[in-house]
Amino acid sequence: MRYAQHKGGQKLHLAYELEDGLTQPICGKKVDGYRATFNVPLGNACKNCRRRLNSKAFEPKKFIRKYYE
Ligand SMILES: [Zn+2]
Repeated sequence: MRYAQHKGGQKLHLAYELEDGLTQPICGKKVDGYRATFNVPLGNACKNCRRRLNSKAFEPKKFIRKYYE
């Protein structure tokens, strides 16, 4: 799990690490890459990502698996 920033000044989205990069944000936003990534949220994480992470319906393994299909 990484906190990833798409553009300067924007909120940090949550993304998972892949063998060759990161997933898209788990909130469903589509980005064309990240400007910076962090291990800690720095108090500025995307609310939608946090909501998705806390949702019982969210399955990280399933989310990651589709990147390898
Ligand atoms: Zn997000």
